[in-house]
This record gives sequence, structure tokens and C-alpha cells, in this order.
Amino acid sequence: MAEEQGGVPQFALGENARVHHLIGVISGKGGVGKSLVTGILATEIARAGHTVGILDADITGPSIPRMFGLAGAHATAANEQLVPCTTAHGTKIMSANLVLAAETQPVLWRGPVLGGAIKQFWGDTAWGDIDYMLVDMPPGTGDVALTVFQSLPIEGVVIVTSPQDLVSMIVGKAVNMCAQMEIPVLGLVENMSYATCPCCGERINIYGESKLDEVAAGYGLPVLGRLPIDPALAAAADAGTFEDDLPAGLLPDAVKLALSLPELEVSEQEPEAPAPTMAQRAAAAAAEYKAKKAAAAKAEAARAAAAGEDVADMTPHEVR
Ligand code: ADP
Repeated sequence: MAEEQGGVPQFALGENARVHHLIGVISGKGGVGKSLVTGILATEIARAGHTVGILDADITGPSIPRMFGLAGAHATAANEQLVPCTTAHGTKIMSANLVLAAETQPVLWRGPVLGGAIKQFWGDTAWGDIDYMLVDMPPGTGDVALTVFQSLPIEGVVIVTSPQDLVSMIVGKAVNMCAQMEIPVLGLVENMSYATCPCCGERINIYGESKLDEVAAGYGLPVLGRLPIDPALAAAADAGTFEDDLPAGLLPDAVKLALSLPELEVSEQEPEAPAPTMAQRAAAAAAEYKAKKAAAAKAEAARAAAAGEDVADMTPHEVR
């Protein structure tokens, strides 16, 4: 039986799938660079020689496929499982955009269907052997985020913030959601932290002095890195050349932490015996009836023999 989180049974992984690490990337609101950070972690971990998967749980705003050169690609199906798309460098990706007819098609699904999509992306997908699975979570603290936290064995999350999030304490909502769901927070990453002047290289704190250290200390969380506003990052994400064009060595502390996490292995659950079909149930009932009749006939023959009766006519040759 799958383990439970807060009384909710966890989704089982598909047959032959193995996930050794499962890390979520979340943010308090949309547009702060959560997918960018997911992409950076995935690319750097893959560059370190590990097999990587990305489960894009940002169902209504999926940006991972385009970032990895898979705009317009479609997941296929084989043996009743979804086959994730594989990037040029071997990272496996499953995303709503890979199962929609077109990238521009909106996802007009309600809560239960969204939860079903997460279940399929996790359990009905032929992931194979994945060292690090990253989950690009939907922004905020809504339904899908809760489903992921309750139903997948997330070992820790990276919270992505922007300088304004730190001031307005939107990040507090994400931290508190993790605390309430008992999901460990690995640390905070501040995106769009500063910009570098293209002429003189001066570092400009566009939003003023960063509050990251102060806020992280307030929650007792480590700072895992800061990213500048860099048009080259946006260009690589938009062009789908992220794996090739991402500068090496971004977010080194976050990558180091991920690579040092103790091994967690999630594999498929023992498959439950499938329910018998109508034909199988009918055959079983017929066999039981036949056995009972044979036993009754045998008992009657034994009784008649003991009583000295002629049993020849009473013992059926074949019980129907
Ligand atoms: P989220 O997943 O939080 O909604 P994204 O990662 O999709 O946000 O980022 C939103 C947009 O901002 C994307 O076009 C992305 O390329 C761009 N972006 C994010 N972070 C940066 C950055 N540090 N420098 C430049 N562009 C960025």
C-alpha cells in the first residue's frame, strides 16, 4: 500500500520507474522565475552526470518544454503509459503542453482533473531510472500544489522569491504551506536580485538592498543563491537552447545541496492483483459447484456402502 501523507494515500510510480531524488521548486506567486530555477537545477544536475526528469506540475502555465527545445513536441503512449519527451541532452520531461494539441490551447480543467493529470504524469509515465526528478510546481498555494505535496514523496523544496516577494512577505505563504504540509524547505533562491551594467559591469540593486539574508534567517532557512536579471537567460529560455546556452556554475550552492541529499528511492508499488473478470468469476463459481457436488456424491456413496446398498447406480461417472 502506498504511504500516506496527512491521511491521503500517495500516488504510486509506474511499472519499471525508479526515482532516486524528488525535489520541488515553488514560489509564492507567478512570474518570479520558478521555471527558470527548475531549468537551471535540471541542467546543472544533468551536467554533473545524473539522469534528470522534470515533472511540469505548472499545468496552466507550462513553460518547461519550450525552454528545453520541445515547443510543439508531443508525448506518445506505449504499453498504456505516457512516454515523456526527451531533450537533446537526455532530460525527460512530462508537461501539460506535451499532451495538448497546441501550445496556445488553454487548460480549462477543474481541481479533480488537474489532480488526475499530476497522478498520470507521475504514475502513468514511463520515466525509467531517474536520479533527480524536479517538480516545477504551480505558483502559489492552490489545489494542485496541495495535491503534489500530499500525493508525491517530495523530499524537499527550493523556494524561489523575487525582491518584492521578500518585502511583501508573499514568500511567507510558501514557507508556511511547506511547514503545514511537513515538507522540508531546502532553502531560498532570490531571482532578479540585481542587474549588471552592460557597460561598466557595476552591480545595480534595482529593488534596493536585498532582504534575502534577513528573511531567510527569520525562517531559519539557508540562502541557496541569487540570480541577476539577465536578458541572456530569458533569450535562452525563449529560444529553447537552455541546455546549451546556460552559463556553467549558476546556483552552485543549490546544486551542491541537491547532489548531497541522502538517497531516496521510489519505485513502483507491488501491483495489486487485478480484479477477476466476469468470465473468471463464472468459471470459479462453476468449479466450486462441481467440487461440492462431487464431494456430496462421494459422501452419499460412502454412506450407501456402509449401509450395504447397491451404489453402482448412485455414483455418477461425471459430475456436471
Ligand atoms: P514562473 O515559473 O515563476 O512563472 P518563469 O521562470 O517562467 O516564471 O519566468 C517568467 C519570465 O521571466 C520568463 O520569460 C523568464 O525567461 C523570465 N525570467 C525569469 N528570470 C529571469 C532572469 N533572472 N533574467 C531574465 N529573465 C528572467
